[in-house]
Amino acid sequence: MEPEWRPAVLTAPLPGGRVRCGLCPYNCGLDEGQTGPCQVRRNRDGVLETATFTAAVAHIDAIERKPFYHLRPGARVLTVASPGCTFSCGYCINHRLSQYGREATSPWLGSAAVPAELATQAREADAMLGLSYTEPGLAPELTLALAEHGLPIVWKTNGFLTPAAIDLVAPVLLGVNIDVKAADTRSHRDLTGAPLGPVLDAIERFLAADVWVEVCTPLIPGVSASPEQLDTIAHRLAAISPDLPWHLLRFTPDFKMLLDPPTPPAMLESAREIGHQAGLRFVYVERALGTPGRRTECPDCAATLVERGIWATHEVHLRGDKCPNCGAHIPGRWEVRP
Ligand code: SF4
Repeated sequence: MEPEWRPAVLTAPLPGGRVRCGLCPYNCGLDEGQTGPCQVRRNRDGVLETATFTAAVAHIDAIERKPFYHLRPGARVLTVASPGCTFSCGYCINHRLSQYGREATSPWLGSAAVPAELATQAREADAMLGLSYTEPGLAPELTLALAEHGLPIVWKTNGFLTPAAIDLVAPVLLGVNIDVKAADTRSHRDLTGAPLGPVLDAIERFLAADVWVEVCTPLIPGVSASPEQLDTIAHRLAAISPDLPWHLLRFTPDFKMLLDPPTPPAMLESAREIGHQAGLRFVYVERALGTPGRRTECPDCAATLVERGIWATHEVHLRGDKCPNCGAHIPGRWEVRP
């Protein structure tokens, strides 16, 4: 199967039939016929084209699975993915889709997305729309087309986008969950192939654009799992906003990191403490510490506010956006689904 290419946004002509792609911070200048390192944008006859107007996956998830914990608890999300990623993380559980063009194990999958059909499917399922599993930042054209159908849209993204790209999509996004995978640029580059700075900048820019932001950090051995690395990440996030929900993800061996052991639960427990010590008020562990790891407590009085299962919200005790016990404001977009 071959990709179906369409004209792309965020492009500028360069001399000699070259084109500039302004979607991610690589800012590629592409020669005629050249494809970018993302493998899903190319210069064909002096026109920048994208292959990501594609649905290789389209199924319903709980919003807690993205994960979003402070955004419309209990909502359902029709989640779409098209092949491709700007990163090449060695542990990627979705590498068969994300690493298209880089790995022999990642052939092209999917067919042209039809936004009206996806919107109808979402409405019939009482769901919003989401782009996840691969890199939604590579699919601004699809995101904008989906937005024309009036449903809320969320992204699970690596945040590796230019300011212009963020400004283009932020008005149609309800929320983004951004991965911060490493404490410093060198280890981030070793893991992903890309620098860390633009990811942190993206968090600030989405927040400034009034998009709801949550952050994930997978505890990857040698990259983000040591107390020092976690402390650095947590302080960086707290400096942006102590209200950023921080999700600590258990690393599990996959793809090119099959020999690294899974993150021990005790390490996740101490990582949660590091987050709180750094000033982050909402720190979560989805799958290793049981219900307490997924619970939202009032930072002021410790009342239980939201109880969650592994991929679902069970009980919401909030009164609007306030703690029912002490009345403290709890940051989030707590309105009822979708
Ligand atoms: S999305 Fe990034 S890697 Fe791909 S062509 Fe554009 S600038 Fe280059």
